[in-house]
Amino acid sequence: MYAAPFDYLAATSWEEAVRLLQEGGDEAKVIAGGQSLVPMMTLRLATPRLLVDVGGADRPRISLVDGHLDISALTRHADLERSAEVHSSCPILAEAAPFIGNVRVRHRGTIGGSLAHADPAGELPCAAVALGATVRTLGPEGERRIAATDFFDTYFTTALAPAEVVTAVEVPVIAERTGWAFLELLRRAGDFAVVEVAAVLDLDSAGRCERVRLAAGGVAERPVELADAADALLGERPDERAAAEAGRRAAAAVQPGATVHASGDYRREMLGVFVRRAVLAAASRAGR
Ligand code: FAD
Repeated sequence: MYAAPFDYLAATSWEEAVRLLQEGGDEAKVIAGGQSLVPMMTLRLATPRLLVDVGGADRPRISLVDGHLDISALTRHADLERSAEVHSSCPILAEAAPFIGNVRVRHRGTIGGSLAHADPAGELPCAAVALGATVRTLGPEGERRIAATDFFDTYFTTALAPAEVVTAVEVPVIAERTGWAFLELLRRAGDFAVVEVAAVLDLDSAGRCERVRLAAGGVAERPVELADAADALLGERPDERAAAEAGRRAAAAVQPGATVHASGDYRREMLGVFVRRAVLAAASRAGR
């Protein structure tokens, strides 16, 4: 099927993108990498009358600023996989990105598009929640900084207001004793996750967890922070027993629905397994 007819305008700055979106009203939509939007348009699940291309509003960019990585919205998934800054300062993003689709998708799709699209099984939304990332936006009312935990609302819906765009993402740099892991259960390479888990934990000098963030995708209408499971680890050594308890609490915290790929019970069970594995994998890296 072909997409419904639409007009196309290319913005050369974020300010111009916002203005064009305002002028286009409800019928206007941003296009970045097009890897989610174009399939939706060709299936006529989306029928925008105006596409505002933000590809020229900035450039793919990853820089270290005041203790965080500043990642422009136009940064490609493939850039996250390869960037030396990401590998040294926030390696969980480099671990999550290769799970996204295939090589073609990763060379076109952008981090801003992935967050704005808000697929509840998307890798980058899940990693952003676990990292405590901040989403920077620009809209008719000016700039906003939105915590990732507040950004995702429900299926494919975010806190973005009309004509507001994602301009960048800020992610904290890992500390010396931070461990991380991004694990995913897939039916086939390149599929969306049945269940995915992102774990970030800081150990104190005695090897006990002093800060833990766990998030999961594919188990709810948005990426979920698993706060109760994380609490189970605080003050504990992240050993097999503590990791299993975190897994049990994670599974108890969600009520996933069934899809053609997996029943709700299977997803919940696998969430427990993957949280346990992610905690152990993160712990094995902390302090290296
Ligand atoms: P686009 O498709 O251009 O836009 C997506 C949505 O976000 C649109 O609503 C658009 O208006 C909005 N948008 C884009 N940029 C901005 C911005 N800066 N500000 C405000 N709104 C914006 N994704 C995964 O997470 N995991 C997968 O395993 C996966 N597999 C895929 C497999 C295939 C075969 C394909 C085609 C896609 C797959 N994707 C997957 C989707 C892919 O990751 C997309 O790149 C991503 O979801 C959207 O990024 P994009 O830049 O392509 O956005």
